[in-house]
Amino acid sequence: MQQMGSSGPKGFVVQPRRLPKAEAQIRVQDFGEIIVKPTTENVEAQAGRCTDCGVPFCQNACPLQNNIPDWLGLSAEDEMREAWRIASATSTMPEICGRICPQDRLCEGACTLNVSGWEAVTIGSVEAFIGDTAFDNGWVEPIRPLHERAESVGIVGAGPAGMAAADRLREQGYQVTIYDRHDRAGGLLMYGIPGFKLEKRVVQRRIDRLVDGGVTFVTGCNVGVDVTLDDLRDKHDVVLLAMGVYAARGLSVPGCGPGDTVAALDYLIHQNRRDLEDPENEGWHHAKGRKVVVIGGGDTAMDCVRTAIRQGAESVVCLYRRDKENMPGSAREVANAEEEGVHFEWLGAPKALMSRDGAVTSVRTARMALSEPVFGQRRDIQVVPGGDFDIQADLVIEALGFEPENFAAHNPELALTDWKTVKVARFGQPGAGFATSIPGVFAAGDAVRGASLVVWAVRDGQDAAAEIDRYLRTRTEEVAA
Ligand code: FAD
Ligand code: SF4
Repeated sequence: MQQMGSSGPKGFVVQPRRLPKAEAQIRVQDFGEIIVKPTTENVEAQAGRCTDCGVPFCQNACPLQNNIPDWLGLSAEDEMREAWRIASATSTMPEICGRICPQDRLCEGACTLNVSGWEAVTIGSVEAFIGDTAFDNGWVEPIRPLHERAESVGIVGAGPAGMAAADRLREQGYQVTIYDRHDRAGGLLMYGIPGFKLEKRVVQRRIDRLVDGGVTFVTGCNVGVDVTLDDLRDKHDVVLLAMGVYAARGLSVPGCGPGDTVAALDYLIHQNRRDLEDPENEGWHHAKGRKVVVIGGGDTAMDCVRTAIRQGAESVVCLYRRDKENMPGSAREVANAEEEGVHFEWLGAPKALMSRDGAVTSVRTARMALSEPVFGQRRDIQVVPGGDFDIQADLVIEALGFEPENFAAHNPELALTDWKTVKVARFGQPGAGFATSIPGVFAAGDAVRGASLVVWAVRDGQDAAAEIDRYLRTRTEEVAA
């Protein structure tokens, strides 16, 4: 496709990168998204910065292989409906990925402009704009299969992997039921990721579209407890496991007993429920007026510190054992947190929780140092003797990552990897291979990858749906022969 708008006055030479973001002191006053919806002119100008470089590194770096140069070119020419058609061909939720992908590590990180010293095209923001415009204008087609098929698919987990698979399977006419133990669908899109990154109305309209298209949601149903996997296998022709990873890694230091800390996901769920105007329960956590220490350096930790700032904490410290360069969290999210007033204590590892009258008062912290760099290896860390110090705290949040729950405890014939993720036939290989060790049972998303990204869950869900479709059609042909 011809690049449109790149050689005119909107080209990258005269048009700097602009991502309209609310000022920090304004945005911390509520839980609304911090990226301000751009104007059409702004989107045209930003999309017009794409050079149509000929080698779409951005597309290769996108897990969905989105046709980015094409929809940028169309957006630059205000051909938004066509841009939507192309963006939605490869992704079942462009407006969500456009908001929450760590673009600095994916498409925008690989953008030729970024690599050559100019700033990357604002690919994510344009993608979100295309999706929002499509919803606003009624261009998002309802799911209306050409033919209904008798076979049914049961999906365990209503997160992005389950929803993406449901979307594609229902399009093919299958009868789809999604089971989720939460009271709402959406998985971590609804209850994990805070509203300042992804407002819940954006998730809800995707759920509504699935319901309108004939997908059945059974919420409040814990598979393995309320129903068994065998029950679902009896009921459906195929079962897809997309139940994510939820076993939080815990802090194990002297003085840390039950109730002394709060798990990151519990803390975030409570705030997301407030945003959804659910009635508050007694056990809900709030940081207002408190000295908060969040332990961990990933994106979940960033979500917690920024939530605590918005709740009106007296102070918020992020404690991480390595330095800024070696943090697992996205640089963009760290920068957002710094702008919003979070203090980072780099190279500090929790050593003990100090308490008075049964209440935590501080985190005793060991000063750490990085070992000498060794080519090809992650730098190790070691304790600096005599470097201990205390950080005052009356709310300590643990954000140390997640591991899979042991789903095989209820289903011994389900093979797991050494990391307790669900073992599938050919993970990560071309053409995928999402079949598990149990015939007719497939798996996708974090349950297979371990804690990952929404965009990968969407990719897996879409690919697993295509594989399930092939499986069911082959089976039908065999029966007919
Ligand atoms: P999930 O979204 O976890 O959905 C799984 C669903 O299965 C849940 O609804 C759960 O209730 C349900 N379930 C589990 N067990 C059962 C059972 N036994 N029976 C019935 N239902 C069950 N990624 C990004 O790309 N960008 C971000 O900004 C980002 N921020 C994040 C912030 C936080 C706090 C967290 C924790 C993760 C974040 N991620 C982010 C990662 C991303 O959310 C996940 O990779 C993604 O949601 C995985 O999708 P999934 O569908 O595999 O699982
Ligand atoms: Fe970039 Fe994510 Fe959109 Fe792909 S899905 S183009 S990586 S924002």
